[in-house]
Amino acid sequence: MDKKPENKHKIFSGLEKLGFKNVDIDLYNKENKETKAKAEESKPTESSLLYNRTVICPVCDNQFKVRAVKVSAPRMVKKDSDFFITYNNINPYFYEVWICNSCGYAALKADFLKLRQFQKDLVLKNITSKWRGRDYPNTYTLDIAIERYKLALLNYVVTNSKDSSKAITCLKLSWMYRLKNSKDELVFLSKSLEGFKNAFLKESFPIYGMDKFTTMYLIGELNRRIGNNSEALTWISKVITTPGVSHKLKELARDMKDLIKEDPNE
Ligand SMILES: [Zn+2]
Repeated sequence: MDKKPENKHKIFSGLEKLGFKNVDIDLYNKENKETKAKAEESKPTESSLLYNRTVICPVCDNQFKVRAVKVSAPRMVKKDSDFFITYNNINPYFYEVWICNSCGYAALKADFLKLRQFQKDLVLKNITSKWRGRDYPNTYTLDIAIERYKLALLNYVVTNSKDSSKAITCLKLSWMYRLKNSKDELVFLSKSLEGFKNAFLKESFPIYGMDKFTTMYLIGELNRRIGNNSEALTWISKVITTPGVSHKLKELARDMKDLIKEDPNE
């Protein structure tokens, strides 16, 4: 293509009086590239938003470092109806699982230190005996995050942990597959739903920060996402009709009801 500088000048002719002489700007390409480059420059690197935290493994007493996200780092972009949050500069979900590389014990950071003696023995017997170890890079990718969540899930299973621990880990795995645009999202949503339904009956609230009605809403939403609309309605109707439930949660429940009404399969 013939790019004549004088053609570009014409676009801004008439602005000389205002102080803009011979403006040499390519209307789209060059300017955008520069803006983009500048935005990239000012964007902090993922590594600079992380720091090392020292942890002692409750199973094998090994002292090791975990990668942790600085509190001020994540900027929320949007929140999905099942509470998955999109962040713009770092994905904190990637760093939620802690792994002891010496014995293979892994759990969500909220649970990592809460391990009972019989569970330690179960880790040694079922995980450590097979564990080969892996050195992870300084920053994690989506695939690494999936691997880490799965190792945590396996640890929860072999240590007979609460259904809620398995359910929340499956929920987070479903979110990771959502980021990957993979159908496996639905597999893990449905496993998560099963676990939360059990936890709702057997465990005391709060469950991972969720009170009873938030958990009911989530169970309804997970049902909706896997196509069980009538069961979803049963759960959220209780949220909508129970007095004292927060306005915000009722609003979410009403939004969900509208989505179900609009569903062409209904
Ligand atoms: Zn360990």
